[in-house]
Amino acid sequence: MVKNSADVLVIGLGAHGSAATYNLSRNGLKVIGFDTYHPPHDMGSSHGQARIIRKAYSEGPHYVPLVSRSYDLFFQLQELTGTKMINITGGLQVGRKGSLRLSSIKESADMHGCEIEFMTADEVRSTWNIFEPEDNMDAVLDIMGGAVFPEKVIDAHLQLARINGADLKFNHKIVNWDASSSGVRVETESGDEFFGDKLIISAGAWAHKLCLDLSLPLSIERQVLFWFNPISNNDMFLPGNSPNHSWEYESGQTIYIQPNYGRGVKAAIHHDGLEVDPDTLDRNNVLRSEEKKLISIIRRYVPSLPGEVIGRSVCMYTNTPDLEFIIDFHPEHSNVLILSPCSGHGFKFSPVVGEIAFNLLTEGNSEFDLMPFSINRFT
Ligand SMILES: Cc1cc2nc3c(=O)[nH]c(=O)nc-3n(C[C@H](O)[C@H](O)[C@H](O)COP(=O)(O)OP(=O)(O)OC[C@H]3O[C@@H](n4cnc5c(N)ncnc54)[C@H](O)[C@@H]3O)c2cc1C
Repeated sequence: MVKNSADVLVIGLGAHGSAATYNLSRNGLKVIGFDTYHPPHDMGSSHGQARIIRKAYSEGPHYVPLVSRSYDLFFQLQELTGTKMINITGGLQVGRKGSLRLSSIKESADMHGCEIEFMTADEVRSTWNIFEPEDNMDAVLDIMGGAVFPEKVIDAHLQLARINGADLKFNHKIVNWDASSSGVRVETESGDEFFGDKLIISAGAWAHKLCLDLSLPLSIERQVLFWFNPISNNDMFLPGNSPNHSWEYESGQTIYIQPNYGRGVKAAIHHDGLEVDPDTLDRNNVLRSEEKKLISIIRRYVPSLPGEVIGRSVCMYTNTPDLEFIIDFHPEHSNVLILSPCSGHGFKFSPVVGEIAFNLLTEGNSEFDLMPFSINRFT
């Protein structure tokens, strides 16, 4: 094989690119992967210690087969590495009576046999003394809800890929690529060229900048995460003593809170951020108004939580207009695969997306229904 060439080139080694690189290299393909930074890092969308995983999927039943496979793969990765990758605590979603979100969870559970438990506000209060739902609220407990640990998962996928022979080029930003029926080429910022048979673009919040010809309708949304020391009831915020929980404080608007995995209790407002450019985003400053808004919502439902803020972090969602993913070949190039599963809920799918990438690139298809994630839905 010519120097600087591989079966597959991968641009972006975050959640999905690292999983794809692992799966391709595990199956004997020669892969060269590139990342602007040194993943896992805190410049993209995959930092912050823990990500929620849940099975009875409120975003639609079509996600359940995918996430079910991801559960298996997270457990396999945990066994292979001896490192904790996934923790099942249950996941509680609390919403107004008749909330669309809660009925969508039921629909997914009914269709795919996911284990859930409906709870009244009284039942929630008496089960966990830290929760104070309003009387006009109901809740659903997803028994398989829990957390996965993004930095550990990405690191493991990359380390295993390297053992399998993948060539990982960190601190290598790709500034150009092209493709023809005979292969693909990428060019780094310093002018080096690399060649391959196929290309994966898994560049997260930068994906649209690498696919300008497609005018992908991706909007990048600033998200701010906070870690709290509880005011009281510290033990109740430990994993195992309470589930992760999300609260629909207004119709369709939620906050989510995760147990304390060592850095404090993490909380954030889901989708409430400004549209930003990933290259100019201020990652160092969090507005006092952002903090105050979150704290005032938490006080309503989990009043013993919002004590001292001990950590803050800025992250990005890469949203499509319908909040579904993009997993599809470039419309002009059947050897270029675009992976953008985000819209604020993509991490839990990264292991299965890695498998799908392998199947698409080697067999041209996948056992999963990828129609909802096609690029031509935008045209
Ligand atoms: C605050 C927050 C909370 C979230 N919570 C959840 C949750 O609870 N559950 C869940 O399932 N999902 C959640 N998500 C979504 C999930 O984290 C993302 O969907 C997922 O991490 C996106 O992975 P990615 O591979 O697309 O992007 P990233 O992991 O950001 O990877 C993209 C990589 O591409 C690299 N790159 C970009 N451009 C180039 C270039 N030109 N050359 C080389 N490299 C390049 C970047 O450096 C980066 O490493 C959350 C996201 C955020 C921001």
